[in-house]
Amino acid sequence: MTTYERNQKYRNQAIAIHGDSCKACGFNFGEYYGEYAEGFIHIHHSVPVSTYEEPRALNPEVDLVPLCANCHSIVHRRKDKTLSVDELKTMIQSASGDV
Ligand SMILES: [Zn+2]
Ligand SMILES: [Zn+2]
Repeated sequence: MTTYERNQKYRNQAIAIHGDSCKACGFNFGEYYGEYAEGFIHIHHSVPVSTYEEPRALNPEVDLVPLCANCHSIVHRRKDKTLSVDELKTMIQSASGDV
């Protein structure tokens, strides 16, 4: 299996488990942009592959998180720290003022 095929496999599994809406803000590309964008979503690795102590199989249920392009950019904004999806959610809620 090529890396591309493996990535596609994980991507499909992640979407099958988590759906194709952003886990942080709930954005859904298909709903917003229509059919053309349906199924578009970034898949974020919640644990950076480089921090694994030893190579292990990905668990799409906990390791992969669908995020919209905006949220995905924000979790990676700082090079030294990747935000968790929970941290990002909390940020969104407090910024929008409805906590
Ligand atoms: Zn989002
Ligand atoms: Zn990511």
